[in-house]
Amino acid sequence: MFDVLVIGKGLMGSAAARYLQGFGAATAVLGPDEPHNPQTHDGVFASHYDQGRITRRLSKDLAWATLADRSIAQYRELETRSGINFYEPTGGLYVGPDDGSHAYWQNAASIGQRFGVAYDELTADELAVRLPKLHFPAGFAGILEHAPAGYINPRGLIAAQLAVFAEQGGTILRETAVTVTRHPTHLTVQTKEGSQYQTRKLLIAAGGFSNCFDLLERPLPLRLKTETIILAELDAAEAARLSDMPTVIYEIESPDLRGIYLLPPILYPDGRFYLKMGCDTRLDQTLPHDVEAIRRWFIHGNSDAILPAMRAALEGIIPGLRAQSWATKRCLITYTPHGKPLIDAVVPGQVYVCTGGNGSSAKSSDAIGQLAASLTWHDAWQDTELDAALFAIP
Ligand SMILES: Cc1cc2nc3c(=O)[nH]c(=O)nc-3n(C[C@H](O)[C@H](O)[C@H](O)COP(=O)(O)OP(=O)(O)OC[C@H]3O[C@@H](n4cnc5c(N)ncnc54)[C@H](O)[C@@H]3O)c2cc1C
Repeated sequence: MFDVLVIGKGLMGSAAARYLQGFGAATAVLGPDEPHNPQTHDGVFASHYDQGRITRRLSKDLAWATLADRSIAQYRELETRSGINFYEPTGGLYVGPDDGSHAYWQNAASIGQRFGVAYDELTADELAVRLPKLHFPAGFAGILEHAPAGYINPRGLIAAQLAVFAEQGGTILRETAVTVTRHPTHLTVQTKEGSQYQTRKLLIAAGGFSNCFDLLERPLPLRLKTETIILAELDAAEAARLSDMPTVIYEIESPDLRGIYLLPPILYPDGRFYLKMGCDTRLDQTLPHDVEAIRRWFIHGNSDAILPAMRAALEGIIPGLRAQSWATKRCLITYTPHGKPLIDAVVPGQVYVCTGGNGSSAKSSDAIGQLAASLTWHDAWQDTELDAALFAIP
């Protein structure tokens, strides 16, 4: 019998499991590894199968900035404890219309001051001088947030969380939960692979799949949206030429695209360098909470339909970009009604949830996992800075 079983071995679940085990709870984290061949995979997918996620503290929202600040403070220690490097403090650029209308500008000063964020505000002319390899239209200005802003490797972060968790005596179960049965004193988790596990408490951190299977007695208010990214393959010389670029968030004005995010060249596991760019697109769809429908999107979704618009946008940001090949990849974003993760009890004392990344939780998953672990273990919200209501199930 475990004290706590965490369903979901992703960014939030691995962090929560590490904290739970650290609190002294006999913890298991249950979830499948990333599939070797996504095209033939017949199980669940995840939102972290990639090498780069932007991390930064400046934000339109104080709670998000707080979560990022706390998480970034853990990165180096986690790297040291696990022996796994996942963090590159390259700095991060935000670019938007220079009329200052966006909340990002309005909050930069207060959030910057509160967390001691080092950044420069750049006019359009200053942007062109400071970052000559990047190009933005007239009327756009930037905020260049210095290190510790940058990016993390989400696969590496999970591996680091799990390495420390295992070293602390935690149990990793590489299976998929299909049914949860609640008894007066404990719960039974049945897996697709045929195992049954008993646990006193359960924390469900199954990302976009949290409402699938028979895990919860009532569905959570989550909205699933398709997400498309493009990967521009670079040769070593082009990767070296662009290696000093920061991460970029760009409020593009386009009929097809919205909210671009772009990472510097990163070496992927296939031994090649890629520039990765993503955004909301006019072809994005809402998905039902149905494993087969989500799998169909991951395996067969027509993400290439938006490739021309995304490629043109990236070639606009980096004029003269020399790419060897272009490809799209499909992902999933899980939104909540209030725009923050859900960290709450569904059956107080027994069943807790931690999900709803809203497209922004990789960088902050350590702090999100810590809040969920604390709530699950203590049966009460302990944090004095962030209010429980911010993360409550509406
Ligand atoms: C393309 C893209 C780009 C992004 N860029 C950024 C960024 O730049 N910066 C940033 O901070 N965030 C970014 N995000 C968001 C971030 O990746 C997510 O918020 C984060 O992955 C959410 O973590 P999670 O643990 O909730 O979900 P996941 O990381 O998806 O983990 C959920 C886990 O649950 C497992 N699971 C599901 N069902 C079951 C089951 N029944 N039994 C057992 N296990 C199960 C899955 O296998 C998975 O491992 C991006 C997301 C996408 C898709």
